[in-house]
Amino acid sequence: MTAARVGGDRGAIPKSEAVRRAARMPDYARARRTFSWSGARAQMSGLPDGRGLNIAHEAVDRHAATRPDAVALRVVDGNGATVEVTYSELRRRTNRFADVLRGLGMCRGDRVFTLLPRTLDLYVVALGTLKAGCVLSPLFSAFGPEPVAQRLRLGEGRVLVTTPRLHDRRVRPVRDGLPALQHVLLSGDGVPGESDASSLAAALAGADEEFVIPPTDPEDVALLHFTSGTTGTPKGAVHVHEAVVAHHATAAHALDLGADDVFWCTADPGWVTGTSYGTIAPLTHGATLLVDERDFDAERWYRTLAEQRISVWYTAPTALRLLARHGAAAVARHDLSALRHVASVGEPLNAEVVRWSYEVLGTPAHDNWWQTETGAIMISNYAAEEVRPGSMGRPMPGIEAGVLERGPDGRALRGPAGVSEVTAPDIEGELALRAGWPSMFRGYLHEDERYAASFADGWYLTGDVVRRDADGWFWFAGRADDVIKTAGHLVGPFEVESALMAHPAVAEAAVIGTPDPVAGELVKAFVTLRPGWTPDDALHDELLAFGRRRLGSVAPREITVAPDLPHTRSGKILRRLLRARELGLPEGDLSTVETP
Ligand code: AMP
Repeated sequence: MTAARVGGDRGAIPKSEAVRRAARMPDYARARRTFSWSGARAQMSGLPDGRGLNIAHEAVDRHAATRPDAVALRVVDGNGATVEVTYSELRRRTNRFADVLRGLGMCRGDRVFTLLPRTLDLYVVALGTLKAGCVLSPLFSAFGPEPVAQRLRLGEGRVLVTTPRLHDRRVRPVRDGLPALQHVLLSGDGVPGESDASSLAAALAGADEEFVIPPTDPEDVALLHFTSGTTGTPKGAVHVHEAVVAHHATAAHALDLGADDVFWCTADPGWVTGTSYGTIAPLTHGATLLVDERDFDAERWYRTLAEQRISVWYTAPTALRLLARHGAAAVARHDLSALRHVASVGEPLNAEVVRWSYEVLGTPAHDNWWQTETGAIMISNYAAEEVRPGSMGRPMPGIEAGVLERGPDGRALRGPAGVSEVTAPDIEGELALRAGWPSMFRGYLHEDERYAASFADGWYLTGDVVRRDADGWFWFAGRADDVIKTAGHLVGPFEVESALMAHPAVAEAAVIGTPDPVAGELVKAFVTLRPGWTPDDALHDELLAFGRRRLGSVAPREITVAPDLPHTRSGKILRRLLRARELGLPEGDLSTVETP
């Protein structure tokens, strides 16, 4: 397991009657009994004339028809200037981008990638892509050229929308290895002269602001999100338009979100949270979505919460921990009276931070759990219910979660009679979800076997280890595999190791997560050197810089040159053992180790 238990059974935080009554889901037990996915589906309007279900229609056009002047997006740019875009304006802009794609000859299912900062163009491109029936794959703009190239290649992106600066630094160096990429559109100023990149603004200006969304089968692919595994290339999790049913329902149940809210999700759309809840769900609810292009800054974030009158805030443990460190005096300078609900996702949320939020922000941070593959929140603390600090909460209405017995490899044990559930309370096992909810991923791109291996006996196996207490609350214990969570971002050790091994000095690399009080974990690499290289400071600094250049935000923060690395007898590097040694933990069963 790669994360320490986040304990904290001490004292649940109760809810007042007023909060209970005002919550969108006032009674969890009743909602679980009465909820059905078909009922949730009936909340969607569907395309006119029964032409199917399209996420962008639910997010934009249906509100443009009924509340055209309501503010859909409030976008704060890098200089702090704000623009507001109404639902009707967003309809026209997204229509234009859909028309641009049609003009480029893009068809249903073609993949459109974005590598953009959180500007208005990102949201217009994302929703316009869905209108056109194309598949959206948003990439995190802090990725280096290596992760960008790998994902574009795996996803066979035909269109990429990026900025001139990111194009120069991240795409141009790898452009030759991307034969499927036909069109690069550049957002912002400074369009270059070369033939394969053109101006997004010019394309939008020349496009039609009326666009009829083509018939969309709810099972048509809509989104492609890359996530990291322990081995091999990143996995492309495929999601369909039907997912919007879960985005919408879970946003009401877990985020307590509705049309009157001003909602801020601090996740970048390059990660699944920033798409499901940082783009789609607030708009399907007709709320106002705040988008801030700028990165974390404690003082500014408090100011944003206060000045923008944020009522529902969805953020991450790393950010909450940094705010808590910043001290309570900063909070006192700001009027946070509009803030009604705070939710957190992505990594374990310490019980102390939940309590800090309750005392300082006026509402506990409501932890919830989900992952790229689940597409939407699966387990949550709820607005109307007591919060148990340190617990991820209980399953959403419509979701059945189970704890499965684990085998020696740490994953669910698949015995002759299939998997078996842990029924006794407080026993650790692999978290599993009964397959079949609307936002469940429909495949790993080009990897049918890997997809099939994620399921057993009708359960989706999450790769996380949890325990369930006697009252049905879930507590995170760690990962069953070697993936690393740093500042809420999943990092696959293999991807980092492969990039480091491209350096001529590196013979072998092994990458692990080491505990960090703020980011949860930090990426640390161990390398062995090829003959002829000396492990001096200059080489060490060169390797760190090499990692940063190639990988961007997922690069290791620390690199140690080691004389050798532990292997299994079959030659696989034992990251788990390396981690145990690094942290002074028990080394476990060493019978398969070649060089103990
Ligand atoms: P991603 O697919 O990048 O969203 O990462 C999903 C993984 O993040 C999960 O499998 C967990 O390991 C971790 N995670 C997400 N939410 C939580 C949470 N509330 N508590 C602990 N870990 C979490």
